[in-house]
Amino acid sequence: MSRRMTEKLRKRLAAETGTHSAPWGGRLTVALVYPNTYHQGMSNLGFQTVYHWLNSREDTLCERFFLPDPDDLAECQRSGTPLVSLESQRLLEDFDLIAFSISFENDYLNLPVLFELGRLPLWRKERDEHYPLVLCGGVCAFLNPEPLADIMDLFAVGEAEVILPELVKRLQGEVSTDRVKLLHSLACMPGIYVPALFRVSYREDGRVQTMEADAGIPGRVKRQWLADIDQGQSRTCVTTPETEFASMELLELSRGCPRGCRFCAAGFIYLPFREHSHSHLRQQLDESRTDRKKIGLVAAAVSDYRGLAELGESILAEGGEVSVSSVRVDTIDADQVDVLARSGHKTLALAPEAGSQRMRDVINKGVEEAQILNAVRIVAEGGIPNLKLYFMIGLPGETSEDVDAIGALTLKIRTIWEEIGRRRGQLGRLTLSVNPFVPKPFTPLQWAPMEARSSLERKYRQLQRQIRPLPNVDLNQESLKLAEVQAFFARGDRRIGHILPALAEGNSLRKACRDAGLDPAFYVTRERLEDECFPWEVIDQGLLRSYLWKEYCQALDAKCGQACYPGCKRCGIC
Ligand code: SF4
Repeated sequence: MSRRMTEKLRKRLAAETGTHSAPWGGRLTVALVYPNTYHQGMSNLGFQTVYHWLNSREDTLCERFFLPDPDDLAECQRSGTPLVSLESQRLLEDFDLIAFSISFENDYLNLPVLFELGRLPLWRKERDEHYPLVLCGGVCAFLNPEPLADIMDLFAVGEAEVILPELVKRLQGEVSTDRVKLLHSLACMPGIYVPALFRVSYREDGRVQTMEADAGIPGRVKRQWLADIDQGQSRTCVTTPETEFASMELLELSRGCPRGCRFCAAGFIYLPFREHSHSHLRQQLDESRTDRKKIGLVAAAVSDYRGLAELGESILAEGGEVSVSSVRVDTIDADQVDVLARSGHKTLALAPEAGSQRMRDVINKGVEEAQILNAVRIVAEGGIPNLKLYFMIGLPGETSEDVDAIGALTLKIRTIWEEIGRRRGQLGRLTLSVNPFVPKPFTPLQWAPMEARSSLERKYRQLQRQIRPLPNVDLNQESLKLAEVQAFFARGDRRIGHILPALAEGNSLRKACRDAGLDPAFYVTRERLEDECFPWEVIDQGLLRSYLWKEYCQALDAKCGQACYPGCKRCGIC
């Protein structure tokens, strides 16, 4: 490794607080790999949680690996510099277990270079017991592991706090055992998926026909989740100036969401909705070793957290500040906004998701236009200068009028925003973040097609014509190319993993698929059949398929559903 890169790693480590280091020897050693840069990885709370959990024990040791920064990557590939851990510059092969933490499908494209620099064969069939076991954890592991099924030896299906204790116990002293025997024993563990022990057959038309498990192991892998999340601890453990959240400490408030928005995977695969208790969060803040004043509160629906304003007040009372990513339009109130404004919040995000009521009912957003406009008033009156609005286009049944409705709603919001801003003497900016709808597994919209790129491009142009002339309003839109790749891997089967090297070399999705004899439209823009066998259903989320299908039909009829309520048994989780 060049002196420059060695020095960079040394400085990076020195700039951290909370880093763990422990002597090697007598411990199960885990290489925790984030499939993107240090900046991205250290901003990921799940990654931090696993790192902290493994290093809080006497019998395990965990060190981190990241994709080299863009300016180093080319040098590493040219010079053959291997991937090394941040803590001790060891190689991946030195560890007993290699654990990837993957939250985003588009990070799959970094796997070929990570394995190349890690000096590991990419395909699991090319790795024998001389190589460490390769595990995949993180959201992607239990949303749809199949696209990575020929790369990873095993997947952690669910929440780390539940799966890791038993996994560590089984691996201690076993890592050198006969690999086939070891994988079979692990596949019998709750929450562990071993793709090598499942055979997949396909129909003539390419759809999955069957997924069969070997004898003696469960036919589906049950998602594992922490019943009492106060038993877990999800907060920033290692701080560094090199992350998205350099100025703050992240603190998890809850997991899952009771709202049932039909496009939202995080809302369904973390059910049931669970909140941390105030006392637990207080204890977390008291134990925090970081010098960070600002606390970033993390949850699928932050403003749904009961007593958010009280928690915020207690942080302010200690001279701290509060930050949140977005708030719900129907639960935000003046007290919450006051806490955020006194915390120096310059921008607050609201997520109407759709411009027309019909589209909001399709996705079961559960909010009316009046509530959206009221939330805008509360935020503007509360003194937050800038507003961010999240919208989606390409939803099932969306018409040109529904796209126009985004512009119309934005105009109403801007009128309120401008009137209050002028009165307060601070006219801030409105930013629209408009993303294409990407259908996700284990949501009611898992059957829906993603809209074709040409049609989405037309709708973006339609929106630009409406929004661009508006002063103080910006329009951000996600790359359609990246959204297509995300959609391709979100609902793919294990055949598609084989185009990753071609994509990683810069080939387009179309070319990579063509060369591999695959049709991207089959995965991206095809509506699924009601009784189709889905590759991701090797995972048992605990959700009733019939419930998801019923919700899909409701969506197509633009009918609202219901949020979670005590005593409800609808989706099968409770
Ligand atoms: S059974 Fe009802 S309350 Fe429980 S998670 Fe499902 S929808 Fe929510």
